[in-house]
Amino acid sequence: APKENPQVVIDAHGLPYQNAKLPVKKRVADLLARMSPAEKAGQMTQAERNALKSQGDIATYDLGSLLSGGGSVPTPNTPEAWAKMTDAYQLRAQATRFQIPLIYGVDAVHGHNNVIGATIMPHNIGIGAGRDPKLAERTGAVTASEVRATGIPWDFAPCVCVTRDERWGRSYEAYGEDPALVEAMETVITGMQGSPSGKDLDRNDKVLASAKHFVGDGGTEFGSSTTGSYTIDQGVTKVTRQELEAVHLSPFAESVKRGVGTVMPSYSSLDVIGDDAGPVKMHAHAEMINGVLKDRMGFEGFVISDWQAIDQIPGDYASDVRTSVNAGLDMIMVPTAYQDFTRTLQGEVAAGRITPARIDDAVSRILTQKFRLGLFEKPYADTSNLDEVGSAGHRAVAREAAAKSQVLLKNDGAVLPLKASQKVYVAGSNADDLGNQAGGWTISWQGASGATTPGTTILKGIEKNTSSATFSKDASAPTDGYDVGVVVVGEKPYAEGIGDVGNGHDLELGEADKAAVDTVCAAMKCAVLVVSGRPQLLGDRLGGIDALVASWLPGTEGDGVADVLYGKRAFTGQLPVTWPKSEAQLPVNVGDAAYDPQFPYGWGLTTLKKAPTGGEAALTGLAVAAQLAERAGLGKTAAGKEIVDRARLLVQQRTGGKLTEAVSKPFAEADHLLLTGDLTGAVAKLRTAYRAA
Ligand code: BGC
Repeated sequence: APKENPQVVIDAHGLPYQNAKLPVKKRVADLLARMSPAEKAGQMTQAERNALKSQGDIATYDLGSLLSGGGSVPTPNTPEAWAKMTDAYQLRAQATRFQIPLIYGVDAVHGHNNVIGATIMPHNIGIGAGRDPKLAERTGAVTASEVRATGIPWDFAPCVCVTRDERWGRSYEAYGEDPALVEAMETVITGMQGSPSGKDLDRNDKVLASAKHFVGDGGTEFGSSTTGSYTIDQGVTKVTRQELEAVHLSPFAESVKRGVGTVMPSYSSLDVIGDDAGPVKMHAHAEMINGVLKDRMGFEGFVISDWQAIDQIPGDYASDVRTSVNAGLDMIMVPTAYQDFTRTLQGEVAAGRITPARIDDAVSRILTQKFRLGLFEKPYADTSNLDEVGSAGHRAVAREAAAKSQVLLKNDGAVLPLKASQKVYVAGSNADDLGNQAGGWTISWQGASGATTPGTTILKGIEKNTSSATFSKDASAPTDGYDVGVVVVGEKPYAEGIGDVGNGHDLELGEADKAAVDTVCAAMKCAVLVVSGRPQLLGDRLGGIDALVASWLPGTEGDGVADVLYGKRAFTGQLPVTWPKSEAQLPVNVGDAAYDPQFPYGWGLTTLKKAPTGGEAALTGLAVAAQLAERAGLGKTAAGKEIVDRARLLVQQRTGGKLTEAVSKPFAEADHLLLTGDLTGAVAKLRTAYRAA
């Protein structure tokens, strides 16, 4: 890292704000008092690195932040090049009067996903299926360590959206459809940032997180446009006040509790049923950002806009700027016309349409995080962890996460786990495609098929477990003589917008995948793995499939999928969203009055061999344990969840692994209640499940 600051304009050394021993509050106040209006406006500006007319503009406009939008990568796209690139920008910031470091941000939404060679985690929907808060925390820690190693202290993640209709193109960015599940997975914030106090942020393996998109991004309405019908990304979320609070706002309260450093508003509009206001763009929503997020929830970090989102507010640009800043936005992801933005912002302040106090509040919030991150002391990349990017240790965490994310939906005749001795026929579009199994937000914004980054495909994982695997993507090779078939089907990568660009916007499998399933399942016992960002509709085809697995988007570690296929680990994942029977059922969510899906929320068979023994007595024991746990305040904890998992095993053992809906539904409900901390309710549901079995 560069050691000198060759272009220092004044020697600021020795000023109070540079004294790391002073409390952050004092440092912020000292620096703020010295800053000019232009310098303050600059701090509130975030430019895309490719939009910079010259690197000198960082100092000319006193820019507070830069970002790499999805796919905005250095050449070559190596971890070392990222560190060098961010150092070069930081060096420019050192040429400003007060040497205020930049805060560089990136979308590392499932590992450091822009960087070739980084560890790619399962997308959030798979983490939700894993339902392991400790593991979610570890994935966050791995991501943070890889991001910070490349000189980046800020990650636009996690999405704490609650997806209510899987026809939304960002469904896989959500942990699930139940706010309690989303909240339980927010341990990822702790993994990324460390302590809620912010005291760990200056470590070389921690980053600032961003809870997004505030609020209601996962609840937008279904609608149609010239390109088809789908749940409209950036559309209108029309909800009752009660639903807004319980479903969409609740996860943000959890983010604030965990000390999340930044929050990003949603492109969508909010229309609260019963209010006269009509739909209001979230970037203009003062009641929600100032009122709910900052005042009521006590959020002390800063609010970063989404990409060019203020431009969508009705009115001219000056009105967009004042409306958003007055609504509580602290930094604007401009991201291209940064010169216009700083000029306009200063003009609005000079004209008295934004108060200096509002600007000082915004800049204070930004500086606070920069001080906490230790950027004033160490603006450059600490490359001592660069070797950790894509390391074996990090990949082991991703592999575990991939294995735990697998949900066994059906397992007739105990087709799974496979045996090494079996001759296996592997087919399908997603069996040997790293890019497809990683999904969108991988190397490029939309993601892409093919070997875009080092990793192990599911096929390669299978091949490590048996010497008798034959691969025929389109199932055109002869099918006779095999013991079992594995058909890996699903979606091609996409990000934002309508989703599923490969197969149309609906949840149907592509024609080639349908044909592969039909061919293989007609010829032999078959397991079908669906690699996708959301449930896919199987219709009548389901009857001909012996074993069905929801694999979600497992990331670079196909070995994790192979681990559960071959019984090295048991299937333990549970559906984080309801798996519908048909498009006509959508939207469908647990708790709906008429709930008749293909597989209910929370469904998931297990292949655990050592199921606990015992009957009613053991279950009663668990119920007592649950009640004791409740008294000890164990709601929402791993211990509480284990109680349901064990009870499920008991029942599965008794029924030979076959759970009817009458049994699985109360389990799903017990899960839900546990995640909300209602252990008594959960115990009652467990009893119902056991009786129904
Ligand atoms: C997305 C955000 C993302 C931002 C920056 C936007 O299009 O909505 O989630 O953080 O781009 O890449």
